[in-house]
Amino acid sequence: MKLFDVYPVNPINIVKGQGSLVYDDKGTEYLDLYGGHAVISIGHTNPHYVKRLEDQLHKIGFYSNSIEIPIQKELAEKLGHVSGKEDYQLFLCNSGAEANENALKLASFYNGKKKVITFKGAFHGRTSLAVAVTDNPKIIAPVNETDNAIFLPWKDEAALAQAFAEHEISSVIIEGIQGVGGIQVAPESFLQKIRSLCDTHNAVFIADSVQCGYGRTGKFFSHDFAGVNADIYTMAKGMGNGFPVGGIIISPKIQPAYGMLGTTFGGNHLACAAGLAVLEVMEQDNLVQNAATVGGYLISELKKFKQVSEVRGRGLMIGIELPAEFAHVRKELLFKHHIFTGEAKPNVVRLLPALNLTKAYADRFLEAFTTVLNQ
Ligand code: PMP
Repeated sequence: MKLFDVYPVNPINIVKGQGSLVYDDKGTEYLDLYGGHAVISIGHTNPHYVKRLEDQLHKIGFYSNSIEIPIQKELAEKLGHVSGKEDYQLFLCNSGAEANENALKLASFYNGKKKVITFKGAFHGRTSLAVAVTDNPKIIAPVNETDNAIFLPWKDEAALAQAFAEHEISSVIIEGIQGVGGIQVAPESFLQKIRSLCDTHNAVFIADSVQCGYGRTGKFFSHDFAGVNADIYTMAKGMGNGFPVGGIIISPKIQPAYGMLGTTFGGNHLACAAGLAVLEVMEQDNLVQNAATVGGYLISELKKFKQVSEVRGRGLMIGIELPAEFAHVRKELLFKHHIFTGEAKPNVVRLLPALNLTKAYADRFLEAFTTVLNQ
């Protein structure tokens, strides 16, 4: 059988990783500033993480959700503590799309309404509802088409108010910082406006934190910068540091009834062990603060480059917009300087490194970036 090529790939076979570094099958070392698309939160093969997963695997890896699984409660408590959202309830699933799917469904169960406000540039996943609120017609199959999704211009408060006036809105789904859309930070006033309109119209505020959440921006949720609490936060990526773990946390205002949410694999013992190990390392090593400090340093240094059109983002979620003629920069960084970066648009370099990136590695990148831009 031939493998379906999901993405265009680089001819590099990564076989090993440690912290912010990865190694190919020839032993070449690479600096990983992409973390597999924001997935690697505490670094590759973190010893505490490996040990916790290994210990769990020796005990039991999976048993169905029909029994009590104390490690799920442990994870919920830890997440409440680290995120500061102690009074929320956690539902565990397996991916970002599944988290958003459940959040949108739960919102509609809660208020009985159907319309969802989403935004130009949004990415929420590839399952039925998640794809329907994603701004990419190419990935919406005919079966996913729905007129329940209302796409509004990004950051447009007037359009937002008008949509609420004209439709019965069930929920608003918004990334605190659009990732796939090119690292676009939602203004604080915009998030506050969404909060107040949702309150007035009994709509549910869904904060897609799959890419911008979990400490990456220097606060646990990037929506926290606006001082607002969402009704549901959706998470995945960094939650398991590579092990598939997704989840939603639900504010006390919404009490799901039995049967509304469910999954076979979600919340299995191994996933919970991975999730706990991530939070333990984040807490012990103060990684949210490190993301703020090292990310802040990177952003301010990047703003000094005269060839850079714009630097966007917060903490360790950074977009570097370059004039079109610099579209080759990522290839040069990878093949000449052995640094993995991501792409947001052909001319926007996206950095999503592990949250324990050191200043020394940030400097290694800045040096290489200087060389590439000056050539
Ligand atoms: N939401 C956002 C903001 C994302 O960036 C992504 C993945 N790129 C998803 C949802 C979907 O996550 P998954 O691929 O785990 O389904």
